[in-house]
Amino acid sequence: GCSGFLGGSDAIVPGTAPGFQPFEFREGGELVGFDIDLTEAVFAETDYELAEWETFEFDSLIQALTNDRIDFIAAAMTINDDRDETIDFSDPYYSANQSVVVRDDGSFSPSELGDLSGHPIGAQSGTTGEGVIQTELIETGELEESNYNSYDNYVLAVEDLQNGNIDAVVIDEPVGETFASQRPVEVAFVYETGEQYGFGMRTEDDDLTTAVNEGLAAVRQGGTYGELTSEWFGN
Ligand code: GLN
Repeated sequence: GCSGFLGGSDAIVPGTAPGFQPFEFREGGELVGFDIDLTEAVFAETDYELAEWETFEFDSLIQALTNDRIDFIAAAMTINDDRDETIDFSDPYYSANQSVVVRDDGSFSPSELGDLSGHPIGAQSGTTGEGVIQTELIETGELEESNYNSYDNYVLAVEDLQNGNIDAVVIDEPVGETFASQRPVEVAFVYETGEQYGFGMRTEDDDLTTAVNEGLAAVRQGGTYGELTSEWFGN
């Protein structure tokens, strides 16, 4: 990949941002997750080869793509107008809402966004969770900007939640539920955003986008998509 023209013989370099279980995370040093398996299944349906994965912080992925350091983003990335101005997305492959995660000791039990007012909270830089905090809490005057803490990675945000430096984390619900199953934190409530994840590609790589959409359709029809959702989400 990354040589400009993406012909059939040129391997595509996929990029992701680990620390977002069950979509992409490290297990014994190995990069695993739903996005990793789904990407591999989709590419197996195309004529494109897949190169080794490159990893970045989530908020560097779009720049890595437009700078040709990677050719493809698989990072539970929500399709939205802002990003659509810079890159192209595949057809949607997963739906999610935001969740508000708190410590599970009962010290703070918010039931709606407004309850976060006056509390230090966090999210990962460049995410739609951060966007909810900006538009629904900071811009409305319900939360002081100084109460918002931006992290390079959600793992760091949840660690700060556990040690009491912040009182809540706004994060995609499937990932919030996974943290809740592994750490002393819980999902206090869900904030419905109706987000849809898509794979990201450069706008000029139309042939790749077409092939990926065809591959995704084939993976859904052939049953592999269902197998991967039961494997990674148990449903
Ligand atoms: N879906 C969210 C977004 O696109 C979070 C993605 C992530 O943190 N990997 O902003």
